Amino acid sequence: MTVQSQSCQIEEAMRLDALERQQITDTPRDEAFDRVVRLACATLSAPIGAITFIESERQWIKAEQGLGLQETSRDTSFCTHALTGDEVMVVEVEDATRDPRFASNPFVTSKGGIRFYAGAPLNTKEGYKLGTLCVVDHIPRKITQRDRELLKDMADIVVSEMELRRRVGTDALTGLYTRRFFDELGTREIIRARRESTPLTAAFIDADKFKAINDTYGHPAGDAVLRAIGPACRRALRTSDILARYGGEELVLLLPNASLDQAAPVLERLRQEVAAMVVPELKGCQVTASIGAAELAENDLTISDLLARADAALYRAKEGGRNRVELSLAA
Ligand code: GH3
Ligand code: MG
Ligand code: MG
Repeated sequence: MTVQSQSCQIEEAMRLDALERQQITDTPRDEAFDRVVRLACATLSAPIGAITFIESERQWIKAEQGLGLQETSRDTSFCTHALTGDEVMVVEVEDATRDPRFASNPFVTSKGGIRFYAGAPLNTKEGYKLGTLCVVDHIPRKITQRDRELLKDMADIVVSEMELRRRVGTDALTGLYTRRFFDELGTREIIRARRESTPLTAAFIDADKFKAINDTYGHPAGDAVLRAIGPACRRALRTSDILARYGGEELVLLLPNASLDQAAPVLERLRQEVAAMVVPELKGCQVTASIGAAELAENDLTISDLLARADAALYRAKEGGRNRVELSLAA
């Protein structure tokens, strides 16, 4: 492998990580994003428009007009070309039949296929291009400099909206997701698990005798513990695992693609990581957490159904003496 292709791969892995952190793919339709697509179509007088995100194998469509698709493979995606190179401006295709990148693309060769495409990358503050805002037409066209600038501005509005949502969905003290955002993500994960027939495990992680920590070392020391718990848990988890602050000193976790049996050793490691945390404010005192976990069952209708069983398991962990993992055997 050349040094250049290796650095491209690393960059792509970092881009995919940044996309994962946005937690946007497979989320429901959303008026704020639909509105920008409508505006882009109206501004550029185009019949088709979309906001797309490019994952490793597929292009996922957050909002669209005139397209009627939720996802396409990455190989047939026009937008993937808007992510390559140093280009931060709009990528344009005046007539796709004359462009070697697209002439044999099924979206071009099919009846009434794509001729014109203009896509502005969704470029984050950290410089990752996660997808595009694009417009498409069935006839060959040229784009004006003014349209190009407007499309770019509208793409930046999409990115601001995403960044704002991330901030609202993030707890200020711990930097973890908020309960509300977690509930949205939980619904999405249940839909994914059902669609892909994959297991899903949820767990509550509750700091033990936390009130005593506050009483003994002071509230700021308690806050320091809460700030340290997230990173300690993360050391046992995968990037795709979802961790949130559910309330006071209680975290909640979703392990996509993990059965209860597969989750058990991960949770045990997580318990140990919390117990091994060094929080200077506690002057050598150890913090532990109790953990209760449950796996998604056929008759769970909502995320609350799943969490209720994890909560019952947590109760048993507390009753059983704390600093332990309990698995829900009920379905
Ligand atoms: P248990 O082992 O049964 O879970 O006991 P506990 O003391 O951890 O549970 P309890 O629910 O009685 O107390 C939770 C405490 O967490 C009480 C509350 O003051 C504290 N707490 C909640 N939010 C925060 C916070 O943001 N910062 C600090 N420092 N403390 C908090
Ligand atoms: Mg507690
Ligand atoms: Mg609690």
